[in-house]
Amino acid sequence: MNHNSPTIADPSAPDSDSLALCVLSSSSAGNCSALLYTRNGERSLFLIDLGLTPRRTFRHLAEVGLAGVPIAGALLTHLDTDHCKATWAGLLPESTRLYVHRRHRGRAEREGFLYRRCEVFDGPFALAPGLEVRPLLQSHDELGVVTYRFEQASREAALGFATDVGHATEELVRHLSGVHTLAIESNYCPRLQAASSRPEFLKRRIMGGSGHLSNRECATATQQIAPSKHVVLLHLSRECNTPELAGLGHRGRGYAVTTAEPDRPTDWIRIEASEAVKA
Ligand SMILES: [Zn+2]
Repeated sequence: MNHNSPTIADPSAPDSDSLALCVLSSSSAGNCSALLYTRNGERSLFLIDLGLTPRRTFRHLAEVGLAGVPIAGALLTHLDTDHCKATWAGLLPESTRLYVHRRHRGRAEREGFLYRRCEVFDGPFALAPGLEVRPLLQSHDELGVVTYRFEQASREAALGFATDVGHATEELVRHLSGVHTLAIESNYCPRLQAASSRPEFLKRRIMGGSGHLSNRECATATQQIAPSKHVVLLHLSRECNTPELAGLGHRGRGYAVTTAEPDRPTDWIRIEASEAVKA
């Protein structure tokens, strides 16, 4: 679902230095994205969320050219089952680091995710040499959700990643401001949500400000964050949204739009220096 001409990285022929994102799958049923970081010709693969079964994750990784590439690390936004499948507990390879926010530590422990290679964070950290991660905790249900800003120092490239945020706070807008690529949830159309057969308590949870962003809230937040090149719409509700409705508020805004799908990976999106940073 690409409009304009997004820049696509070929994962099998990495540059000496690059950062690229591919959303393997995104919906209320399961979320997992791949981040491929290449430095001096050496590739490191990271996952954002583990909301697909291991089997499906590896199948999608093979589909996007990463069969057999070891997972260096996995970063969790939060531990809801559509972002962290219990089947991964104890199944992550020994060499994979799991990054969990301090607020999620207790739940991660109870669910069997704290093990030797677990990194508990509470502030910025280096994911790899030359790749900085700036996390920001936002409200979502009880324990909150982590949004991420990834910065590749050598290319001044930045990626923003925000899902399940409920509403876009000023703090979040500042945190992700001016990134090259912004991956952000566009969960529901309020009209379809209201007309759905979902129970009232669930509708209230989703639309109540600490659940999910509507299409309009997503478009407004995107305008404020002002990504320079590319927007990836995440986590579309199957029942209460369509790619067409989600895309409406982004027409003619000057950036490419990719809509993540529930059952197949997006193209690879190469993260480059934003114009604002270059200038
Ligand atoms: Zn979710």
